[in-house]
Amino acid sequence: AKQSGKNRYQLYNSEICEIMREKRALVSELRKAIQEEELNVYYQPLFDLKSRELIGAEALVRWFPKGKDSVPPSVFIPIAEEYGLIDQLGYWVLRTASEQLVSWQNTKQSLIMSVNVSYQQFGRSDFVESVRNVLQMTKMPPHSLHLEITESTALINLAHTKHILHQLQMSGVSIAMDDFGTGYSSLSCVKDLSIDKLKIDRSFITNISTDERDAAIVKTIIALSRNLRMKVLAEGVELPEQLEKLAEFECDEIQGYLFSRPLPADQFEALFLASQSS
Ligand code: C2E
Ligand code: CA
Ligand code: CA
Ligand code: CA
Repeated sequence: AKQSGKNRYQLYNSEICEIMREKRALVSELRKAIQEEELNVYYQPLFDLKSRELIGAEALVRWFPKGKDSVPPSVFIPIAEEYGLIDQLGYWVLRTASEQLVSWQNTKQSLIMSVNVSYQQFGRSDFVESVRNVLQMTKMPPHSLHLEITESTALINLAHTKHILHQLQMSGVSIAMDDFGTGYSSLSCVKDLSIDKLKIDRSFITNISTDERDAAIVKTIIALSRNLRMKVLAEGVELPEQLEKLAEFECDEIQGYLFSRPLPADQFEALFLASQSS
């Protein structure tokens, strides 16, 4: 038994070595992909629920390593964060998405672009400056930019967050609270911070038409946002019956596979902008 225990330990050990080797390889590939701009930005449309009008897009980064399967952001974003690559990656996404929006605004001027911000970008002392740089460089109207932060990012340092949000909003940029409701202090966030939009997490939307508790929570978040003069968006809408509930609760905005998956820029354009005029 002792012997096999030792073998198991060695096996375990070599598995860890293998996992670490793979991770190191992934890190160096990711570093190269960022430097050589081998990443893509996909765009998922956001709609006004009542009018069904296109209001903008969320920028979502994609990585298709040459000759390999694509790596999902849920895998490579945490790696980029761990290995100090997220600043460069995040800045590139912000710049790319902003350039894209400015070009789309020639067709539809009112469109907004929503961009995810990692806690590490948010924590940097030059974050606001880098956002202002991108706005200047791309000539993006500041009010067209929405930055998505999560509750956990916001709560790392509440005083810092207040200060940064104030500076961003003074520049005209809007702030959306991403994955709203999944953190431990959702209410503290909206109590203490100036937030422009709540994005209700998909986990509350999934069973909204069958689970009365989920429905009640969503209804309450929508009422909360109305009372605090914030916009509210439902994420991950996949089914007509979910949409129906959200319409009943008078949710402002919707996003999800029911309307479209995230798309490459040219497909987004062909599907959602070709027939538009501003
Ligand atoms: P997120 O910000 O919550 O983005 C929404 C995710 O839900 C996206 O996954 C999107 O493709 C997916 N989604 C949208 N509608 C539906 C739906 O109807 N059903 C289902 N099942 N899923 C839906 P994606 O693109 O894989 O991104 C995963 C996460 O990776 C994002 O979650 C975000 O946290 C992170 N991420 C993606 N791009 C960036 C980026 O540029 N910067 C940073 N910091 N994080 C990013
Ligand atoms: Ca998001
Ligand atoms: Ca989200
Ligand atoms: Ca999420």
